[in-house]
Formats: sequence, C-alpha cells, structure tokens
Amino acid sequence: MTALTGRYEMYGMDSKSGSTEMKLLRVDMGTERIQSEDVAEHYALLGGRGLIAALLLAELEPACDPQGPDNRLVICNGLLAGTLAASSGRISVGGKSPLTGTIKEANAGGTAGLALARLGFRGIVVSGESERLKVLVIGPEGARLEDAPELALRGTYDTCDMLRARYGDDISILCIGPAGERRYLNSSVQVTDREGRPARAAARGGLGGVMGARGLKAVVLQGGKEKPVFADAPRFRAASKAYMQALRKHPMTGNILTRFGTASLVGAVNEMGAMPTRNYSSGSFEGAAALSGEHMAELQTGRKGSMTHACQTGCPISCSNVYNGPDGKYLTSGMEYETIALNGSNLSIDDIDVVALIDRLCDDAGLDTMETGATLGVAAEAGLLSYGDSARVLELIRQMAAGTPLGMELGQGTERFGKSMGVTRIPVVKRQALAGYDPRALKGTGVTCATSPMGADHTAGNAIGMPGVDPLSPHGQVEVSRGCQQVMALFDSLGMCIFAGMPADNPEVFGLLGEMLAGVYGGDWPPERLLGLGTETLLRERRFNLLAGIGEEEDDVPPFMRTEELKPHDAVFDVPREELKKVFDFAASGQGNQPG
Ligand code: SF4
Repeated sequence: MTALTGRYEMYGMDSKSGSTEMKLLRVDMGTERIQSEDVAEHYALLGGRGLIAALLLAELEPACDPQGPDNRLVICNGLLAGTLAASSGRISVGGKSPLTGTIKEANAGGTAGLALARLGFRGIVVSGESERLKVLVIGPEGARLEDAPELALRGTYDTCDMLRARYGDDISILCIGPAGERRYLNSSVQVTDREGRPARAAARGGLGGVMGARGLKAVVLQGGKEKPVFADAPRFRAASKAYMQALRKHPMTGNILTRFGTASLVGAVNEMGAMPTRNYSSGSFEGAAALSGEHMAELQTGRKGSMTHACQTGCPISCSNVYNGPDGKYLTSGMEYETIALNGSNLSIDDIDVVALIDRLCDDAGLDTMETGATLGVAAEAGLLSYGDSARVLELIRQMAAGTPLGMELGQGTERFGKSMGVTRIPVVKRQALAGYDPRALKGTGVTCATSPMGADHTAGNAIGMPGVDPLSPHGQVEVSRGCQQVMALFDSLGMCIFAGMPADNPEVFGLLGEMLAGVYGGDWPPERLLGLGTETLLRERRFNLLAGIGEEEDDVPPFMRTEELKPHDAVFDVPREELKKVFDFAASGQGNQPG
C-alpha cells in the first residue's frame, strides 16, 4: 500500500478531516466478538466499492469457497456519505460472489448509507458463521448481536415491520429474505427507503446468500447523530450547490428521470433494438408501449401512486416510484427499467401490473429481479413455461420464495439452471445474467458486460446515449467502455448514484466532484486523481479475480451473441476478443495507475 500513501502525500490531505475519522466495525458471527477500529490510514480515502476492493484483496483469500465459512460480507458507504452531497448516500455490499466466483460489489439507494455515516462508520466487515439467526444492531451506544429466531424465512416486508416493532420506527435496515437464508445464488440484500420499505436492493451476485451464510438476517442502524468534519466547509458547500444545480438543469436528471424514472428507457432501448425479448431472441418487443414509463405515469396518476420519489434524502433526481396496484393500494416501489425488461419483454409479458407484482415478490423474497427474470427466460426456452404465461411466472417465483425443489433449482441462477436443462442460449457473462441491454445492439455496454470484473453488470459502465458513437458499430466501444467503467468505479466509491453522474460528462461539472472532496478531505483533487480512484478499484478487482482463477479468458459475451443475428438490426456482437483485452490496458491508453 505504500504507493497509495505516496499518492495521498503528493496531493495532500488534512489529517483530521471529513471521513478520515470514520470507523470500521468488525463483527465475527462465530465468536460474537465485535470491534470498532479507526479506518487505517491507507484506507482513509477509499469508500464504497473502492474500499470493498481494497479490503477483500488484502484480507480475503481470493480462492476461498464463496459459500464456505471463510467468505466475508463487507458493507460500506461512500466517501461523500453524510455530507448531503446530491444522491451520495448509497450503500455498497461486497464479498466473493457465489454466483460468479469473482469479487463482487452491489450497491443500493435507500437510507442505510447515510445512517451508517451518522453513526460514525465507514463500513462493517462481517466474518464467521453463526448457527443461530441474528440481527446486528448498531446505535450510538455501541453494537450488539441479538438472536432473531422469529425472523427465520420471513419476507423482507414482514421482517422490517417486526424490526420496527422491536427497535422503533426511526431505523434503517439492511436485510435478507428467504432467498438469502437459503443461500440462493440469485439472492439480494434489501435496504429500506425513506418510508421504511425494503424496496431498494443490492441485488447482484448472490450477496444475500453470503449474508445468510453468516447467519445474519438484518443490520439495524439506529439513532446516529455524527456529522462529518469538513476541511473547508464553504468550498464543499459551493461545489455541492453547483452540482445540485447541474443535476436540475440536465434534461435527464432534471426532467425525464424525475417524471418517468428509469422506465423512460423502455421506449429508448426498444427503439434502439436492444431490449431483451423472449430470452434475448429479439431486440424489440411489440408490447413495449404497455411497459413504458409514460404508461406507468398514466396508471399511477389515476391510482394516486407517484412517478417522482426520492429513495434517499438529498436526491433531487427522484427517479424512484411508488407503484400502487389496480386496487389503489401500495404494491411496490423503485421498479426499474431492468426489472421491467427482464420480467416484461424477456418473458413476453406486456402487463405492467404483473411486472410490478413480480418486483414486489422478488423484493420480499430477497431475489435479484434481473437474475430471476433471466433464469425464467431460460426456463421458457427449456419448455418449463410458455412466454407470456404470467400466472406460471408468478407461481415459479413463489416456488423460489417457498423453497420447493424446483424453486431451489431456479435459485441457482441463470447459467446453472440453464445448463441443467440443456439450454445453450444462456445470456450470462461470468455466470451472471445480462441485465436489460442486448450487447449486440448496444456494443459499448456489451464491452462493459463482457469485461467488468463483476460479470455482466450494466451499472459497471452503461454506454447508452454516448454522443458520437454508433451503438451498432464495433469501433470505439473499447475506449467508451473503459471511460464508463472508470467513472462508475469512481461514483461507486463516492457513494453517488449512477444517475447523478449524467451531468459529469461536462468537465466543469466533473471538476465539482473534486471540489467537494477537497472541501471534505482537503488537498487537491484534479480530474486525474478522481479517475485514478476508479482505475485503482478496477485493477484491484481484476487482481482479485486473477488470484481466484478468473482471468481474461472469461471476458466475452455469451457465445450465441457472436453468431446469432439480433432483430431488428440483424446485429451480432463483433468487437474482436483481442480488442476486449485492451479495456484495462490503462498504461497503453496513457494512464499508468497500478494498484497498491
Ligand atoms: S436518482 Fe433514483 S436511484 Fe438514484 S438516489 Fe435518486 S431516487 Fe435513488
């Protein structure tokens, strides 16, 4: 780590500023030993995904069995958590993924990132295993583990109600559902939103199962009052205010996402021919209009739901939604484009109320909606259900929640289930399902999904709408993906939402991120230092994967996408494999960062 320390000294950092005083909580579920420690100096300017990568690389044997006793669950907020910078309260959850076998970070909105910061913590490292189901309660007076047998196999909505009855209304919760307790490979960690609903998900990679294997049902965060110490509060405030204004002025973050949420992408992605349809056999869906954000908005106006909802305090974008069912009562919240694509068009379902019910069932069971929809698409290809058969889809998801033998099989995720059924068209990279953007018609995102250390993950660097790049052309996509992946690794380390990054393609706005960090931590944060945070994170993740036995030979789209033409553009994924090897060649691209 000496190289990193050297870099901090080069740019400068105040010794007592911002989150440099944050603590790390270590919890051994086997011995029930709980320790709070200062964040080590070499981790002091790392947060979220960046800190998870550094901690796991330093402390976890990469070749360990992700379903075994040695794996760890790491929960971190970002470098700007607690400051009320726009949309900066995301919470990152990490570990070695039982789904992909790679390092994994998945992050969620909701209130937990801020609540953890208010308690003075940058992160929690959970190791060991408890035979009895436990809840970890963290408050101003300390942290403790409590038995929670009454929560066993409870859905997340019930779990949160019961935890509020026990610990009071003013708490934030991270919890798992029956899917995590059963250690499904498609299980999520659910996080409560401002209304206390467990509708936000650190969805990907089976991290719910990593939490379940520790015997940890929930983390309850209560009553923190800590505030960050600013190195230069006026500098932070000026930059934060300017960033907020940039978000409000941007056509997506100040208008489209606020009015229609990410469901606004249904029309755009369908128009591009990249919307997964019937297990990725077409890129456009004839029923897309019925799944669109505009249609959702019409329905919700009549039902008194809302298409403008902030999942966390301090988000001016408010892309989330509150979806009321046909009876006018609350059904689900935070229903995203990817959930709609994988469980709507991918299963040939054009009834948005059915997709909303799927979203609710998955959130309650603690299932990744994307992996679930992709698995059911493969199941349809295998003849286990018919495309468009909503009743059968709902029944199979309920089987997953109930843990029937078939439900347990489906819970193994898309690749394992598909292979067990003899399916060859399996839309995964590194065993994780592609989420909503067909790589053949959106090749920059395809490069990201092919090469990300996380396995197929659009949030690792979604190249949708990149100016000057034809999404159908193989040219220029490696450079586009490299830039997107660096920036997203940065945002995931700041704890800022992916959508808050939209105005940052303007260099002046991007520079405001450095100004905010300088206001919190002191020192200088020029653009190359900001990007360096992303680069170092990616290189650490790649290093972890290499040590786990997963190298660049796994960096590619599913084989059928290289040969099978996708309607309506008759496109195949034709970015050469040799080109994919250049994505992380930062030295050749003029950036020489190496991980410490
Ligand atoms: S933009 Fe949407 S997902 Fe991101 S923090 Fe705001 S409401 Fe949550």
